[in-house]
Amino acid sequence: MPRRAFASPAGKPIGWACRFAALSTFSRRCALLFGLVLVSAVVVGAAGCTSKTAKIDPAKRVVVLALDAGTWDLLDGYIERGLLPNIKRLRDGGAWGPLESINPSSSPVIWTSVATGKTPEQHGITFFVRFPDGKTGNPVPVSRSLRKTKAIWNILGDADKDVAVVGWLITWPAEEVYGRLISDRAHYGDLKDESFPPNYMAQLKPIGTDTVLAAMPSFMEMTFDPAKVDRNATDPEGRINYLVYDRFVRAYARDVFYMEALERTLDDGALPDVLFMYLRGTDDVQHGFWKFMEPELFEGVSEAQAEAFGRVIERYWGWTDFQVGQILERFGQDRLVMVLSDHGAGAAVGKNKVVTKEYMHLSGSHRKNGMVILNGPGVQPGTKLEGASIYDVTPTLLAYLGLPLAEDMNGRVLGEAFTACKNGCTFEHIASYETGLGEGGGLGEAGGENTTSPMDEKVLEGLRSLGYIDDSAGGAP
Ligand SMILES: [Zn+2]
Repeated sequence: MPRRAFASPAGKPIGWACRFAALSTFSRRCALLFGLVLVSAVVVGAAGCTSKTAKIDPAKRVVVLALDAGTWDLLDGYIERGLLPNIKRLRDGGAWGPLESINPSSSPVIWTSVATGKTPEQHGITFFVRFPDGKTGNPVPVSRSLRKTKAIWNILGDADKDVAVVGWLITWPAEEVYGRLISDRAHYGDLKDESFPPNYMAQLKPIGTDTVLAAMPSFMEMTFDPAKVDRNATDPEGRINYLVYDRFVRAYARDVFYMEALERTLDDGALPDVLFMYLRGTDDVQHGFWKFMEPELFEGVSEAQAEAFGRVIERYWGWTDFQVGQILERFGQDRLVMVLSDHGAGAAVGKNKVVTKEYMHLSGSHRKNGMVILNGPGVQPGTKLEGASIYDVTPTLLAYLGLPLAEDMNGRVLGEAFTACKNGCTFEHIASYETGLGEGGGLGEAGGENTTSPMDEKVLEGLRSLGYIDDSAGGAP
């Protein structure tokens, strides 16, 4: 595929009409207080509120690229060394900064907060697994059935915006959306409710080990033996073999699956108004291979191992950056591109050490600050974002797409990223999106029972190796 530069159309004002200086601090409350008055088309001028509200501009479209565990602590250096040309281009032509995460630092919880604008208590996904009897019994991985609130793709669908959701955490069982949704368990294959429309990816089989073996030399110098994958191996070679399986082979196979799923989705009919694409391998490799990148911080890493595996993380980021380029090739420049992560990453040493009873391959662990980039029409290039939070993602997307904000969401619009909001913006608010659930709606107030699947053991295998199931891990992964 030919590659072309993704240039940012700098300075093009967006359609937010309401530009009022010095309104930013109280505009939200103002809009709340006078919301009904505004709807009644009564002009409120004396109080300093705007009489204009955000307008829906159907031309506005968005690509959201969710890259797990992305952190400027790593990416800055990689960009400087020219390893991430696509992310560099987006950053340099856009608004960017750290993205503050939440506790527990558990990706399913955080990505659900990103997609709902709600706290874990509000949306119902509070950990990686559920124990049938509270804290005991066989753990079951959490599923979308437990989600109590709408995701942004439900809200967008209700507003006739066509969505594609690919691989986003805790989207299985797939729900009906206005568009297409490939759930986060589709890569296991042969699973009921893996996508919407049903069986949408039935022809796409799980990625085989052969594909991974063929790619492996571009990431590490090692002869991996698929026949010798043993979780309980005690000899050094066996342990490394399992580490590579656990932290690379599965991760790469999964990311390749969702890239292929995305390609098929984009080949099928019109491009979606809003794409939500999730890639997870960057978190797997940071957990598994950090000690080889910084062997001086760890005991027992040989020179040969550091040589063989020391660049897996940066190479995986290079591969991921290439995928970012491939995805953006498919879209025009008339879209907002948002790149973000759920949390950062760092060496699992000192207070960041992950202590568990299980043998695990954790030498990297999570950090509070992830990353965010906004690039595209209306974005003021070179804006450094301060104090952005994972809760701000959904409000920002709603505002950009001309939809009202909801009072029961927690974040704010990252207005400073947009040229039109240089002097502050006000936005229309409604109380909540959780009423009047339409066809594409979530589960509403009631939530639901967790859904089990024949793949639960496979899902658990991955969680176990991350320590998610072991209480003593303290949620650190
Ligand atoms: Zn993680």
